Amino acid sequence: MKDVFIIGGGPAGTKVAQELRILGFEGNITIFEDRFLGGECTNVGCIPSKTLYNFAKLRILCKKQANVNIEINPSTIINTVKKVVNTIRKGIEYNLKRYDIKVENKIAKVRNNRIVIDEKEYGFDVLVLSTGSSPLTLGYKDEKILTNRELWGNYFDDFINEVSKGIKVLIVGGGYIGLETASMLSTIFTNSNFTLIEKEKDIIFTADTDVINEIKKNFQKNNQNLTILTNTTIKNITKNSDNLIVEYETPEGIKKEEFNFIIMSIGRKINNPIENLKTLEFDEYLRLKNSENIWLAGDITGGKMLAHKAEFQAKLVAHNIIQKKPTKRFTKTNDLQIPSIMFSIPEAGWYGLTEKEVKEMGIEYIVKKSFLSANARAIADNSREGFVKIIYNNRGEILGTHVVASNVSELINIPMVYNSETIVYPHPTLSEIFNELL
Ligand SMILES: Cc1cc2nc3c(=O)[nH]c(=O)nc-3n(C[C@H](O)[C@H](O)[C@H](O)COP(=O)(O)OP(=O)(O)OC[C@H]3O[C@@H](n4cnc5c(N)ncnc54)[C@H](O)[C@@H]3O)c2cc1C
Repeated sequence: MKDVFIIGGGPAGTKVAQELRILGFEGNITIFEDRFLGGECTNVGCIPSKTLYNFAKLRILCKKQANVNIEINPSTIINTVKKVVNTIRKGIEYNLKRYDIKVENKIAKVRNNRIVIDEKEYGFDVLVLSTGSSPLTLGYKDEKILTNRELWGNYFDDFINEVSKGIKVLIVGGGYIGLETASMLSTIFTNSNFTLIEKEKDIIFTADTDVINEIKKNFQKNNQNLTILTNTTIKNITKNSDNLIVEYETPEGIKKEEFNFIIMSIGRKINNPIENLKTLEFDEYLRLKNSENIWLAGDITGGKMLAHKAEFQAKLVAHNIIQKKPTKRFTKTNDLQIPSIMFSIPEAGWYGLTEKEVKEMGIEYIVKKSFLSANARAIADNSREGFVKIIYNNRGEILGTHVVASNVSELINIPMVYNSETIVYPHPTLSEIFNELL
């Protein structure tokens, strides 16, 4: 094997490339990336959003610990977010150079088992598809209707400048991304009003009911400028001279309201680079069905779309490519191992089965629950909201862990070592430092 081609330079693609070098692969590695290295995560996802999240935490900390309301200058936010994104992107570029990995800033496709670049076809020894996913929209187009790509990308400066003046923002989608966005924006920009619309009967409807209730309770108490409407669907969006007029249907009937901006956060679709292949099926080693040498990693594999899952899969794919027997397998079906983290205030994190799922499966179980209000460190931090809930089967094995607490992203993998060899390190967290060494 001489050459590895990788399509997509996000967390999955760049990790496959680096891991191959770490495992001793000496052939050529080329990544084709049509936008920016670091993908959705570094440029318009995890990193800018978590940088903004820090400002929300700072505001809460000052209020709780010193009873001081701080106002943060929009230009400080804009410059900090840009600086962090640039630093991380530069770090990725540096690492790829260090490992002698070539990057081509081009769109690549696959046609008839050959890679196509600028309409020229090339053969390959090994190909990795890590093209990620794109935001879904409801089909409405306007410069004030933002997906994550505009919000954290080209429209970021304008949005932050506007939202700091006091405006009305609609967030569509009550999954973890919509909710964390609503949480941080409404915490920082208290003079703006936020409405979140979710079509399901509850927010983060796949989470444990206790998590959902705790999050809602905290939002109600602390984020009075945030209204959450469930069982509600968008019927129409039009525009007057300046603003967006949204018609939405609630259980109480149709309503009409004006907003300055809409943030769309309704889910994602995979980016499939293979022409004439509608669905991407793959085996337990993440190899494309009916193929010897095409592998998949990251959001392109569907299921939970998270950067730490992308990197976890990338490591496995690198092992499989160089035919070192995989020590740990990861497939689409065991998404349960992957922790979901919601960087709201307070944070929520979970993996495994919810109590409702365990009940529905007819499994005998017991629940152990501790409250942060009884934890000395939480009291010292004045962050007493939340709980830790662990669901065990009658053999004492953990079926699910559900936590609401500040900094749960750094803690959620602790119970993972209890009955599993697998620890997945959530991204972006300090705990990831151990991922390189353990
Ligand atoms: C707002 C937001 C916040 C998020 N926060 C978190 C978080 O806190 N923690 C977390 O774990 N996850 C988070 N995620 C999810 C995370 O961003 C994704 O799971 C992760 O980026 C997936 O990595 P990937 O490499 O599979 O795909 P991507 O990051 O999507 O990278 C794929 C890359 O491939 C390129 N590409 C696509 N097609 C082609 C082609 N044909 N030719 C060349 N290049 C191509 C794309 O331009 C892109 O750069 C967040 C997502 C969003 C939207």
